[in-house]
Amino acid sequence: MSRIAYVNGRYVPHRSAAVHIDDRGYQFSDGVYEVIAVHNGGLVDEQGHMVRLERSLNELEIAWPIYPSALGGIIRQVVRRNHVRDGIVYLQITRGVAPRNHAFPDHSDSALVITARRGTPFNADQARRGVEVITIPEIRWKRRDIKTISLLGNCLGKEQAVRAGAYEAWFVGDDGLVTEGTSSNAWIVDSAGVLRTRHANTDILNGITRISVLQIARDLGLKFIEEPFSVAEAKAAREAFVTSTTSFVKPVVKIDGEVIADGKPGQLAARLLAEYGHHMNRQTADAK
Ligand code: PMP
Repeated sequence: MSRIAYVNGRYVPHRSAAVHIDDRGYQFSDGVYEVIAVHNGGLVDEQGHMVRLERSLNELEIAWPIYPSALGGIIRQVVRRNHVRDGIVYLQITRGVAPRNHAFPDHSDSALVITARRGTPFNADQARRGVEVITIPEIRWKRRDIKTISLLGNCLGKEQAVRAGAYEAWFVGDDGLVTEGTSSNAWIVDSAGVLRTRHANTDILNGITRISVLQIARDLGLKFIEEPFSVAEAKAAREAFVTSTTSFVKPVVKIDGEVIADGKPGQLAARLLAEYGHHMNRQTADAK
């Protein structure tokens, strides 16, 4: 089956889909993106992703390339045309094509690209397997709340993780506190049994999965706090895990080679993953 991409108003074969070399996304990483999970043919937390997309656009003063109300229909069309039942939709908006000059162009049409890709269906048993993370210095800019395509620091971090045989790298600020993973949010169940993840300000991307898992914790009546934790606290934690659109809730069993608790994936992480599965099912119940 050949994949189809949406590029500025046209559905084109993925292999020949292209944008101009003067696109500011290509020149300057001047753009934003979203990754939305497709589950049972439906979109997970579409509304949350749209709110964050609009916020990212506003922060960078990039205009909507189309009416926002038209976006949902196009996304669904891309999902359908690619026969994706479980997987992801990738959506990118850049400031568009303009002669290379750092300052914003007087006129440019923002550019929209949407692709979809099949992935492994959600499986709550994933919590039976834990992953390793490493910690690395936070080297990124100070507006990590914007979901920009400028991801070089994140790419360098992930490459370090891969070379270390780890699943993810957690960035650690000069204050010794973990900010987030290169493509996920970081969580622990601290030594007092309290679920903890950093509060969402400009230091981290406010993950849509993070928001959903916090809501699940609230609904379950779990004790949680939105506060940063140090690497030492994470290593001494009862549990650790990461959340993201593509990882869902993933238990962490080793940090920098040091075993967390008894080295087995935590029970709370498993419970949150199972609940997150229900959340996805409810979100996508109407999809055909
Ligand atoms: N932080 C960073 C830096 C990320 O790239 C991601 C994934 N896009 C996340 C956190 C998690 O966000 P979400 O739950 O919306 O996928």
